[in-house]
Amino acid sequence: MTAERVRVRRAPERGRYARSDIHEVLDAAMVVHIAFVEDGQPYCIPFLHARVRNALYIHGSTGSRTLRLLGDGAPACATITILDGLVLARSVFEHSANYRSVTLLGRFTRVPAGERGAALEAFTDRLVPGRWSEVRAPSPKELAKTSVLAMAIDEASVKMRTGPPSDGDSPDATDDVWAGILPMTIRLGTPEPAPELPHGLPLPQSVRNLCAATSDHHGGER
Ligand SMILES: Cc1cc2nc3c(=O)[nH]c(=O)nc-3n(C[C@H](O)[C@H](O)[C@H](O)COP(=O)(O)OP(=O)(O)OC[C@H]3O[C@@H](n4cnc5c(N)ncnc54)[C@H](O)[C@@H]3O)c2cc1C
Repeated sequence: MTAERVRVRRAPERGRYARSDIHEVLDAAMVVHIAFVEDGQPYCIPFLHARVRNALYIHGSTGSRTLRLLGDGAPACATITILDGLVLARSVFEHSANYRSVTLLGRFTRVPAGERGAALEAFTDRLVPGRWSEVRAPSPKELAKTSVLAMAIDEASVKMRTGPPSDGDSPDATDDVWAGILPMTIRLGTPEPAPELPHGLPLPQSVRNLCAATSDHHGGER
């Protein structure tokens, strides 16, 4: 049963609640906006994220105000947004956007020190598959400075819009006005080596795989 707090009421046919639908949208995006309240003031802060099994992971410095509050169990709302296209109709009123988004409610918990390395490995490899094994692992000192938080994906909704403008069967449809969809994607650009990189060092496998996998992919923020 859909939790009442995340039931899509406006355009309910656009709502999805299956775990697979929620995971699919989370996995197609890299950025999550996390809202919480501190001293009565709402804040909404962007983070990189990764889904591992049925949990959303974020990480950062132990000095971060947001991570400290969230780690202490502050109620949170995580939102993922993927803009898939602009929908241009014959009338201004019917203009819209195609999108996939998730709203997830819950509380984060701190990943215990003994599990933090494994969580960071999973996090890194979700964002850039294979990268973990190509680079130096975090030292105990670095791990101690890193906060990793996880939130169970238990109370969440997807809302999505797909398809053409919805005025195709209206009287406006006979007007000579162009209508349709402008698809939108975020693409990876050409890799830019760090300035100090020894000349001729080849691209690592992880980067080559990611570029190849996303070059003709539509969807998500990659
Ligand atoms: C795409 C993206 C991904 C990010 N990923 C991570 C991540 O994975 N881990 C991580 O630790 N940080 C990440 N950041 C930075 C993150 O948004 C915060 O700036 C950081 O975590 C510090 O949070 P804080 O609440 O401790 O900052 P504080 O400096 O204590 O926040 C104080 C105030 O500064 C302002 N502020 C803070 N952050 C931002 C911001 N991003 N944009 C505009 N104003 C801001 C707000 O007004 C906030 O109330 C990311 C930022 C972006 C844009």
